[in-house]
Amino acid sequence: MAEHPGGKCLTCGTQTKNRCAACGKAGIDLFFCSPECQKTLWVGHRLFCGRHAFPPLFPLLQPDESRLVRTKMYAPILRGDDGPTSIYDECLVHWYTRPEAEHAVSALVEGSAYDREQPGARGTSHNQRVLIVLRMALCLQTTESDRNDILSALSEKWYRLLCDGVFPVDVRDTTREQAILFHHIVAVVTLMRVNGQSAVRDRESAMRGFQCQFRMIDYAEQHISEEASEKVSANVAPAMHGFGGILRKIVNR
Ligand SMILES: [Zn+2]
Ligand SMILES: [Zn+2]
Repeated sequence: MAEHPGGKCLTCGTQTKNRCAACGKAGIDLFFCSPECQKTLWVGHRLFCGRHAFPPLFPLLQPDESRLVRTKMYAPILRGDDGPTSIYDECLVHWYTRPEAEHAVSALVEGSAYDREQPGARGTSHNQRVLIVLRMALCLQTTESDRNDILSALSEKWYRLLCDGVFPVDVRDTTREQAILFHHIVAVVTLMRVNGQSAVRDRESAMRGFQCQFRMIDYAEQHISEEASEKVSANVAPAMHGFGGILRKIVNR
């Protein structure tokens, strides 16, 4: 068997042949150059590592997350054209009636009767969209939970990129390149959370986060399209938006 050519470490960008074995089994090549780099991203990567890496499937809500979503889904937390609006008003109303939405927030929960009876249901296109929208209700607040904060930030990014046509409406149509782009976004969001939490926001971790954002934008440009890379930088790394060309010159020098 030909040796795998390798790729760039998701955390630090070093060229390596150390592939994430669990994600490899799911048909997607993701790389970590060292146990330290794998450990740095693990809090985020573990949520999608393995059989849910490709296509990337968001996990069901945990019972406490479901309770939190229920308290926020009708609250006016988004800025709509006609003033403040809720996640429910903005998005869910297109797919669901109110009783159906209330059913979903109880059903799409780990260990619920629905989960026990239909264990594969999490992966349907419809349920994934609903999960993403429900989680967005939590995207403006930070909680004690890394898992909750990372997943709600990712839901918001996924939803915006879905609206912009970077990700498909049906998650089962996700290409391998789109899935790898998503794992780059997971890395960026995870580093933001990890760096934001560290007591000392040192230069080194700020630089690591910045380079991770750059690699994500670069991946989108090299493997998807220039337009996709524009959308990704605008939605996921707004501070970098518009600087792509300049940054490339600096980084490649
Ligand atoms: Zn590394
Ligand atoms: Zn993995």
